[in-house]
Amino acid sequence: MALPSHMQALTFGGRENIVLSTVPTPQVIRPDDVIVKVTCAAICGSDLHPFHGREGGIGKSCTTGHEFVGTVVALGDNVKSLRVGDRVASPFTTNCGNCFYCKSGATCRCSHEQAGGFGWVDDEQMLLPEKDRKANALQGAHAEFVRVPLGDATCMKVPDSVTDEEAILLGDILSTAFFAAENGGVGPGKAVVVVGCGPVGLLSILAVQQLGASKVWAVDSIPDRLAMAASFGAEALNFKACDVLATVRAGTEGRGADVALELVGTSQALRLGFDSIRPGGTVSSIGVNTDAAFPFSPQEAYGKQLTFKCGRCPARHFMEKLMPQLAACPAEARPPYTRVISHRMHLREGVEGYRLFNNREAIKVVLSCA
Ligand SMILES: [Zn+2]
Ligand SMILES: [Zn+2]
Repeated sequence: MALPSHMQALTFGGRENIVLSTVPTPQVIRPDDVIVKVTCAAICGSDLHPFHGREGGIGKSCTTGHEFVGTVVALGDNVKSLRVGDRVASPFTTNCGNCFYCKSGATCRCSHEQAGGFGWVDDEQMLLPEKDRKANALQGAHAEFVRVPLGDATCMKVPDSVTDEEAILLGDILSTAFFAAENGGVGPGKAVVVVGCGPVGLLSILAVQQLGASKVWAVDSIPDRLAMAASFGAEALNFKACDVLATVRAGTEGRGADVALELVGTSQALRLGFDSIRPGGTVSSIGVNTDAAFPFSPQEAYGKQLTFKCGRCPARHFMEKLMPQLAACPAEARPPYTRVISHRMHLREGVEGYRLFNNREAIKVVLSCA
């Protein structure tokens, strides 16, 4: 397939400004590259950090987005495992599959020079032609096409029985939900507090129940998110209207929960998670918190016998486990993961998609890019 010279994409126009732009179509630059024609791409909570300026580093005119699924349309000479026409999903970062980190399952910390996150080209690199940029300066996937470096290890073929929408969730937020639960040591009989009912929090409710949790409280203040949390089997707690800690303690013979998953990224949420667990419990923190210090002291952590885990999800590693499980699960028996997708729009409507998501009028927005 001859690729068009230009394509439509959502680009970063400065703080709180996303622009529908016409940009050059990516080309194969390195022999490990794969060009994917994006079928659909999603807007993620972590797209909002640079959008609001909480995280710097995205240059003006950089294409945003890192959650996508699509079809291979061009390949570098070294790509061995993929063919033109393959339907592929991708994690939000590229990885080599061979380094110490990849081999130990920490694919999100791959040490290869081409390992990077989609949609992160800084202002300085944006001035250069794409082929002259740093190897890990990658354009985003809110576009008709995206270049995926290290294609063999990064892209994952999607089995026919897995839908595009399921595959897009696996590339980031569904894998992140299972990572959060696994970091929390969630297993049979555990009592779990989920702080934050955004898309990752909602999927975490499903994940912890799949792993055997016996009780799940879900904390938020937005009515439609709490309603979905309840429909997913959690006891939904509006922290503005009830005493979360008293409710959790009342349900655990006064002890507190075994595990708190924090999926917001604020110190208030992290503190609530910390306060909600019993001594010897675990806080698994996934939200990106840009504050300078922890909202609990070393002495408090000591007093709580705290286990604390945090970090970015090694999504490629989790996709490897979760994709075959999902493919093998009959459609009627699948957990309702895709119910978190509240809005399906076209890439051309992406600016409005950002607005809805940013205003929390949408839970999850998926953009069709074809
Ligand atoms: Zn994401
Ligand atoms: Zn690696």
